[in-house]
Amino acid sequence: MLKLLFHPAVYLMNRLSYPAKFALVMALFAVPLGMTSVQSIVSMSSEISATEQRLEGIRQLKLFAGLIPITERIRDLSVTRRMGNDDDIAERYNRNRTDALNYIDQMLHNSKLTGNPLLLLLLQNLQRQVESMRVSTGSEGDNVELIFTSTNRLVDEVYDLQQRIANEFGITSDTDWLTGQLITILLDEFKAPQDALGRTRAYGVFYLNKAFMTSSGIGMLDATYQQLSVAGNRLQQRFVLLVSTNNSFKSNFPLDVAALDSLREAQQLLEEQLLLDDELSMPWEEYYEAVTGAINRLDILRDRIVDIVIQNYTERLQQQKMQWFQHLAGIGCLVLVSVYLFGGFYFSVRRTVDSLILGARNVARGALTDRVTIESRDEMLELADVMDTMRMQLYERQQQLLNMTITDGLTGIRNRKFFNDEIAQRLAVAQRKQEPLVLLLIDIDYFKRLNDAYGHPFGDLCLKEVAQSIRALLKRPDDSVARYGGEEFAAILPDTDILGGTQMAERICRSIRAILMNANGENVQMSVSIGVASSCQSFGRSEEQLIKAVDGALYQAKAQGRNQWVLAQEEMIEVPVSNA
Ligand code: GH3
Ligand code: MG
Ligand code: MG
Repeated sequence: MLKLLFHPAVYLMNRLSYPAKFALVMALFAVPLGMTSVQSIVSMSSEISATEQRLEGIRQLKLFAGLIPITERIRDLSVTRRMGNDDDIAERYNRNRTDALNYIDQMLHNSKLTGNPLLLLLLQNLQRQVESMRVSTGSEGDNVELIFTSTNRLVDEVYDLQQRIANEFGITSDTDWLTGQLITILLDEFKAPQDALGRTRAYGVFYLNKAFMTSSGIGMLDATYQQLSVAGNRLQQRFVLLVSTNNSFKSNFPLDVAALDSLREAQQLLEEQLLLDDELSMPWEEYYEAVTGAINRLDILRDRIVDIVIQNYTERLQQQKMQWFQHLAGIGCLVLVSVYLFGGFYFSVRRTVDSLILGARNVARGALTDRVTIESRDEMLELADVMDTMRMQLYERQQQLLNMTITDGLTGIRNRKFFNDEIAQRLAVAQRKQEPLVLLLIDIDYFKRLNDAYGHPFGDLCLKEVAQSIRALLKRPDDSVARYGGEEFAAILPDTDILGGTQMAERICRSIRAILMNANGENVQMSVSIGVASSCQSFGRSEEQLIKAVDGALYQAKAQGRNQWVLAQEEMIEVPVSNA
């Protein structure tokens, strides 16, 4: 069932080469892994760029925040400037206007700000507004509030710009609670207290400068007093909430919350110097400085919050980059390890298959002594072992067959074919090594008669007996005896001198003579005649000559009466060979 299920996959794999199989499996692993990795890297990268954008946004916000106190001063001074004709105020007013224009000019030279076409337009618009501020003098008395409100547009514009930047850089939609809170405070909560403080400064300076108080002035100052109180309380509440809900906040980001007291101090100043002091005795410059001090302290608090947010974003960015790097390194390691292991897997299979192919090829071309070996110790080893067993069996069978081709069927000793090869080879070795070699040609005497008398089967028995006896006499491993023909045997004795050769011939003659064969109860004796020739004799250099010589010697032995050996002599070579 399971087999059937896998049939298509097996069908596919069976048709692919190993590199293709590996590429396919690798791709199946690598593609989804790569896709998820790339996805996560991309999402992390986009988080990083979002944080980078927010960081850039808050930095720009900080630049705009610097414009707020200047525009506020212009606004507040413009109230008195328009209503009175005080040189000192005019000078301060002009100085602040120049400050504002310089600041805006600086901002216009900041490529990061001007790179944004909308921002550029708004900045230029602001610049034009400050430039075109014309303050005519007059005594519009009770229109103080109107003038304040109309010049306040400048401040509003800056706040608007801040809000725009915050929106554009995604600062307002921060998921981090603390940062979100700080940004909300920054964008929403400072405007009202700053407005109240601005009114305190503008109206206060106006009335102290004029040194008289109108009823509408009292009303305005009263309203401002209330405004200061409401805004102060609200801001205070926001900070208390922030600190109480976030324990780590206080220790991590020390804030001078005492700056909030400046609102109360301004309130007190307004009450004591304007509402309760009918004389309006405080010099307006002193009052201006006191309220400006309060405003500055609040500005510092606001800057501090901006810095905290910048710090938050910077830390977050570092953390995100670190995470991104760790993630990338992790994926990189995973990819490297899997590629490495896959490579090892592939090369192991490849090498095993190559070794098996090589082993099979060796067997195919008949190199049966080369072992089939592989490096891997897995299931393939079993295959290699089976192949090697196959090789060994083939080798044994081959050896058996080879043996059969050089063995005489009747006597069990080597045959003529073996002799032909052996004599040639041994002679060559003997010549190379400058060693003597002795050849014996042994012929059973009157074998025809024996056959005739006792029958061929008995003759065969005798042949076997003689063959085995000669073989038993040859003790050296290099010695060999072969059936040369009918009842003739040839013995090759390498590395043997003439004396050794003749001794061996003598021993053979005697031992054959000693054999007693039993033919139907009758004892039958045999004898052999032996021709002895040595390669160290002058004729013995070639195989043909040696055989001729040994044949001649055998003929001589026969002629001399049989049952004896004769050492070949030069003149015997020419003797016609006849065993008849
Ligand atoms: P000589 O002493 O001169 O060697 O006489 P011989 O009879 O031995 O020599 P000859 O060459 O006349 O005869 C050899 C005989 O050996 C002839 C053949 O019948 C016999 N013979 C050859 N091969 C075999 C064999 O395989 N089995 C048997 N039983 N006889 C064989
Ligand atoms: Mg014979
Ligand atoms: Mg013969």
